[in-house]
Amino acid sequence: MKSLSVLVVKVFCCLLISTAAFTQSGDVMTVHYINVGQAQSMVLEFPNGAVLIDAGAQPEMKENVHLFLDKFFDRRKDLNRTLNTVFVTHQHIDHDMALLDVAEHFTILNYVDNGHNNPKGSGVRQLLMQQYKGELGIKYEAITFDKVTKGKNKAGYTDQLIDAVDGKTGGTDPEIRVYSGAFAEGQVSDPKENNHSLIIKVIFGKASFLFMGDLETAGITKVLSWYEGAPQALKADVLQVGHHGSANATTEPWITAVQPKYAVINVGNWTFGLNPADSSSTKFTTYAYGHPNKKAIDLLEAHIPGLLEKPVKKHIGIKGQDPKDPTKTPVFRMATIKHNIFATDWNGTVSITADKNAHYTVVTER
Ligand SMILES: [Zn+2]
Repeated sequence: MKSLSVLVVKVFCCLLISTAAFTQSGDVMTVHYINVGQAQSMVLEFPNGAVLIDAGAQPEMKENVHLFLDKFFDRRKDLNRTLNTVFVTHQHIDHDMALLDVAEHFTILNYVDNGHNNPKGSGVRQLLMQQYKGELGIKYEAITFDKVTKGKNKAGYTDQLIDAVDGKTGGTDPEIRVYSGAFAEGQVSDPKENNHSLIIKVIFGKASFLFMGDLETAGITKVLSWYEGAPQALKADVLQVGHHGSANATTEPWITAVQPKYAVINVGNWTFGLNPADSSSTKFTTYAYGHPNKKAIDLLEAHIPGLLEKPVKKHIGIKGQDPKDPTKTPVFRMATIKHNIFATDWNGTVSITADKNAHYTVVTER
């Protein structure tokens, strides 16, 4: 009897979750943080359109973006398998692996990236998108920090490619703005690709979501100094935690500026890379990086006001592999997450719905 009642409760829970996840009625928007393992991809669902931010995936999950979008457009037939804009925050494979697959199977109206396209690196996908945009009828725009901040602008930058979604008649018109992009030479103290990530903010009435790619400390410092005196610029209720929960992307000044009420980490399971026989090399894995890092989790726990309905016990990294001494193994510990911090590792796909009055509902796959 006991096992039967548990089963009934589980089925009931699933029904509740699927009902909430597969309808979108009314004047709301939803961000779906897709479970793509140690990588990042998010679908922004609006009453009148859809946007994709990043199209990355862990190698064995590279179909997940396509599969998610197939299901999504089955439910939202009114959108005609069309993405109003696809953003790629920066040219790394964990953010663009499925980009060409998406371009092949869905209609993309606008494509926005940081302009980098190194064909020797992962940027070959950006290069192809930039080259074939004419054939595919896609409008393309490269975003630089100079473009975003031109004329001492501290209000973020937008145009018809970045903000290509209107509200329904009488409904809330989502506002999409970009706050950072590729730096010019010498503009940022550490020029690695992560620091050239786009920062994108979506404002839906009083609700707000911030996306920061893999921006690291040097990029964060530069961006914070630019927006000093403009406290609203980076403030957002829901934060896509930078760089998969790495310690170098969640700093005290950054969290103080954003003031998130919810945080979502796009990260793989800690065991990805633990077994040397894993499909990928052990070099670029959740295990090797020690993601998400305890320092980042501690800062988020200290600043995020809302509590989870039930605390969760999860593995978090104390330290990752030392690139100078890869024989030193990473260290993980169990930690209890008490606040509104979600992760694709332990939650699967996370969907956060907001109405214009900044009421949020979180639905997780598990
Ligand atoms: Zn990344």
